[in-house]
Amino acid sequence: MTAVTVNGRSYQMPQRPTVVVCIDGADPEYFTDGLARGILPALQRFREHGVYATAQAMIPSFTNPNNLSIVTGAPPAVHGISGNFFLDPETGNEVMMNEPRFLRAESILAALSRENARVTIITAKDKLRRLLGHGVEHGMCFSAEKAHEVTRAEHGIDQVNDLVGWETPEVYSSELSAFVMEAGLRLYEQQRPDVMYLSLTDYIQHKHAPGTPEADAFYRMLDQYFSAFDERGAVVALTADHGMRDKNDAIGRPCIVYLRTLLDDWLGVGTTRVILPITDPYVVHHGALGSFATIYVTPEVDVSQVGARLRDVPGIEYVGTRTEASQRFALPADRIGDMVVISDHTTVLGKAPEDHDLSLLEGGLRSHGGLGEQMVPFVLNMPVHEAYRQRLNVNLCNADIFDFALNGVALA
Ligand SMILES: [Zn+2]
Repeated sequence: MTAVTVNGRSYQMPQRPTVVVCIDGADPEYFTDGLARGILPALQRFREHGVYATAQAMIPSFTNPNNLSIVTGAPPAVHGISGNFFLDPETGNEVMMNEPRFLRAESILAALSRENARVTIITAKDKLRRLLGHGVEHGMCFSAEKAHEVTRAEHGIDQVNDLVGWETPEVYSSELSAFVMEAGLRLYEQQRPDVMYLSLTDYIQHKHAPGTPEADAFYRMLDQYFSAFDERGAVVALTADHGMRDKNDAIGRPCIVYLRTLLDDWLGVGTTRVILPITDPYVVHHGALGSFATIYVTPEVDVSQVGARLRDVPGIEYVGTRTEASQRFALPADRIGDMVVISDHTTVLGKAPEDHDLSLLEGGLRSHGGLGEQMVPFVLNMPVHEAYRQRLNVNLCNADIFDFALNGVALA
């Protein structure tokens, strides 16, 4: 077998070790800014000799939907993961979407492993691990967050801390991403897996804008790892799950539209249910405030009337019905509410003030979820065939990264 077909696309078996990195929350501005100041030498080389472009992330521009789009090569309508969090229509409960039972499509990684490619997946946060590793046979899949708990039976590896030589880092830290890169590099050197997928955390991007000392240190660290993989002969492909924007007003207070407060006021308490799919157990860096929400309404509510009213609220960029939004953004219609609301690049959406602990945010809010955070880097360390070069910047999306890495690279 020289190729596999996954979700309607064909992927060649890896010709040489391929390392795909999802730099969580890597707004292209971090790369632009770092390159302009000459602090990212590996990236500079990739720009000169490989591919340096931007692509679109899926909407909602959240972590889980986009990680799954990257590894399946398909939009949420196909893989089924519409948020980090959703209202399960079967139970009426709001639940995390981190169980493989929510997946509706196979991943490229699973398909490659079935054909005996050796696959290694490392994530920063454990919430993604089982989704990303689903269907991967005789490979490795573990998180930095739970590195100390890995077992050969469950994760395909043990003693990860010994391998890396580091303790398990704090979950809210840049070290969590560094641990992923270091573990990846050690495993690359020892075992040269055919395909690696390394998925980082956006902690730094939520806290630190491009050009700040913390952001510089983080991107310099990443650049050194990109360089190390490059020097060891890997195909290196970089993208992100979403960008990141400042969501504060002129004096540094978060710009928040509280949807439930508005809707309760307009329609009466209990007629609507607001779901914020950014919600997950890790709220310290965003307070569960993102730029995308879905709303469930009781049957008597006139969706088009509410939509018209919401569109007039300052900071709201898009309001669509379930049908409109699922078509425009390729979302699974049964996993979004009766309405989808997206706020603009300076605004986030909340439920009501009492639902969000803004004291956690110390130093302002940077977040994502909307159209303003849809642009992400799309970078390879090697040149691609002409047909692929022509696709750059033409409806390119982060879900194309495995296609480029496995099919597009022009090996010497
Ligand atoms: Zn993310």
